[in-house]
Amino acid sequence: MTDPRRHLPGVDALLESSSFAEVLGEYPRGRVVAAVRTALDEARGDPGSLPADPDDVADPRGWAARVRTVLVEADRPSLQPALNATGVVLHTNLGRAPLPAAARKAVEAATAGYTNLEFDLQGGGRGSRYDHCADLLAELTGAEAGLVVNNCAAGLLLSLTALARDRATVISRGELVEIGGGFRIPEILERAGTRLREVGSTNRTRPPDYRAALDEDVAVLLKVHRSNFRIRGFTEEAALDDLVVLAAESGLPLLYDLGSGLLDDPDALGLPPEPRPADGIAAGADLVLFSGDKLLGGPQAGLVVGRADLVARLRSDPLCRALRVDKATLAALEATLRLYRDPQTARAGIPVLRMLSTPVEALKARAWTLVERLEGAGASGVRAAPGEGAVGGGTYPEVTLASWTLRLDPEASAGRSADDLARALRTGAPAVVARIDEGEVVLDLRTVPPSQDDDLLTSLLTLLNPEHG
Ligand SMILES: *Cc1c(COP(=O)(O)O)cnc(C)c1O
Repeated sequence: MTDPRRHLPGVDALLESSSFAEVLGEYPRGRVVAAVRTALDEARGDPGSLPADPDDVADPRGWAARVRTVLVEADRPSLQPALNATGVVLHTNLGRAPLPAAARKAVEAATAGYTNLEFDLQGGGRGSRYDHCADLLAELTGAEAGLVVNNCAAGLLLSLTALARDRATVISRGELVEIGGGFRIPEILERAGTRLREVGSTNRTRPPDYRAALDEDVAVLLKVHRSNFRIRGFTEEAALDDLVVLAAESGLPLLYDLGSGLLDDPDALGLPPEPRPADGIAAGADLVLFSGDKLLGGPQAGLVVGRADLVARLRSDPLCRALRVDKATLAALEATLRLYRDPQTARAGIPVLRMLSTPVEALKARAWTLVERLEGAGASGVRAAPGEGAVGGGTYPEVTLASWTLRLDPEASAGRSADDLARALRTGAPAVVARIDEGEVVLDLRTVPPSQDDDLLTSLLTLLNPEHG
C-alpha cells in the first residue's frame, strides 16, 4: 500500500479549484487559507480521515466541504445557548436562571450606548453605581438599604471583610457548610480575615452556645441558611429570632446568608415554606444576603439588604470596588426586580417562576403533541412518560417537581447507545442537554420553554431520522 499522505494536494491547488469558489465568496481569503492548512494538517496526522480520494487531487470537492466545516466550527462561540432538558430549573452548570424578556430588553438598552451608570443626571455631577437597584431592593424586602455585588459569595466576603476583619465571627458548627463548587463557609471567613468562632455541634446548637462565645473579640454573628441539604433526627438550631435578641443585647450585627433569594410566595408556586429575604429583615437580621440568579430568577448577582449604616460600611470598603457589577447586570436586575412589584406580573414574566409553576397537565399535553409530531415525521423509539425534575441551584434539596418527559429508546436507533444519543444532542445546534435513566435518554419538558418545542423537535428529528433536513 502506498502512503496516502504523499498524495495530499497543495494549498494553491485547492484554492484555485472550482469547488472552492463558493467558500472563498463567503469567507475572507486569509481565513480560508488558514482553514485549508488546518484541514491538511489533520489529514497528515490522520491519513484515514482524508476527506477525498487521495489519488484524485483533481477532484477536491471533499476538501472544500472539510474546510467549510473547519470555518463553521471556528465560528461556533465558546459560550452557546443550550436547551435545558434536564428538568433541573436552576441548573448551575447551565447558567441558572434564564433572564426575563424585560431584563434582556433592559440589557440591550443599557449596553448599546452610554448610560448614567455613575452619573447624576439631575445635578450633572458624579453619581454612584451602587445607587442603582438600591431603592427597589429596599422596597421589596422592607430593608433600609441595599447593595449589589458580583454574587452572594462576594456579598458574604465583603460583609465579613468590612465588619469583622481581624476580629471574630460566631457561627454554628452545623452551618460550616459547602455550597457547590468550592464555596465553603470556613474558607470564606478565612479569606475575609475574620477568626472563626464555632459554637455548638454539627446537629445541635442552642442560643446559650452563642451567648457563651461572645467576648470583646467578636464582631458579628453569622447565620447561614442550609439551603442545599437537611439534617434530620436529633437536631436543634437556634432560631433567627433568638439570634436577633442576642445580637441586640450584645450590640453586634447579625448577618443572615440566605442564598436562594425567593421573593415570591412559595405557596403560590406549589413549594414548601422557605425563608425569604423580607422574612429575615422583618425578624430583625441586620444584613440579609442572597443570590440574584437562584429563586429570584434574575442575573448573577449578590444582594445585600439591611441596615443603612452597615450597607454604607460595605460600600466604602476597598473590596467593594473589586466585587462590583457592571451596567448589564444592574440593568437586568432592575428590570427583574420591577416585575416583583406585582406577584402576577412576576409569575408571568420571570422564566424561573413560570417553569416552577407550570401545571404538570400542561407538560403532559406538550409531551404527547411532540411524540405525535415526531411519529408523524417518521421518527420511532420515542414515548411520552411522567418524570421528576428538581428546583436546583442548591435550593429545595428534598423537593421533586412532577413533570412529563420524552424518552428515547436507543434500541430503535440503529445500534447507538444512550450515551451516543445524548452526546449527539449535546453537540448539535442548539445544544440539547438531557439525562440518561435506565438506559434511555430522558428529556424533561418543564425546563424547556414551550416557545422552543420546535427547536427541540428539529433536534430530535435530526437525531432519530437522519434523512430529515
Ligand atoms: C448559593 C448560596 C450562596 C452562593 O451564592 P452565589 O450567588 O452562587 O455566590 C451563598 N450562600 C448560600 C446559603 C447559598 O445557598
